[in-house]
Amino acid sequence: MKKYTFILILLSFLYIATQCFNSNLSNISSVSSNFIYPTKYTDISSFYGNRILYGNHNFHNGVDFLAPLGSEIYASNSGYVEYASFLEDGFGNTIILSHDLGIKTLYCHISETFLVKVGDYVSQGQIIGYVGPKYLSNGILNGNTTGPHLHFTIYKNENTIDPLSVLKNNV
Ligand SMILES: [Zn+2]
Repeated sequence: MKKYTFILILLSFLYIATQCFNSNLSNISSVSSNFIYPTKYTDISSFYGNRILYGNHNFHNGVDFLAPLGSEIYASNSGYVEYASFLEDGFGNTIILSHDLGIKTLYCHISETFLVKVGDYVSQGQIIGYVGPKYLSNGILNGNTTGPHLHFTIYKNENTIDPLSVLKNNV
């Protein structure tokens, strides 16, 4: 009897492990196809990956879209607003959306006109804010920015991925 119990537990474990692996693979592809550009300006001033900034090597964890001041910013996917405020460490005014499957999107250097607040549900394509100025009204630098642009990052389980690898449909 004990032997069967052990086999049963082993089979259950293997089944769960297989399910996790399968769902993980299918999740990435199903989620990937659903992201849209967060702005209608698709020219990029800085790509994802290693770059040299102010003479130092640094890893750019998103893409910078050359969007003019006041450009509309769209929710790349549907989800909940996790953060909508000023964020230290170079982000400036920032919105973070939380989507299904451990995916988050982050929009930086945006204006002080937040159109959403923490806890709001947003639909894909909904305008959540606008591209902001280099300096905020209180004189503080709006994150690490040399001028108006939209910095956009996609997190998958706390790691970043190249947004351009999943942004398939334009708005
Ligand atoms: Zn950037």
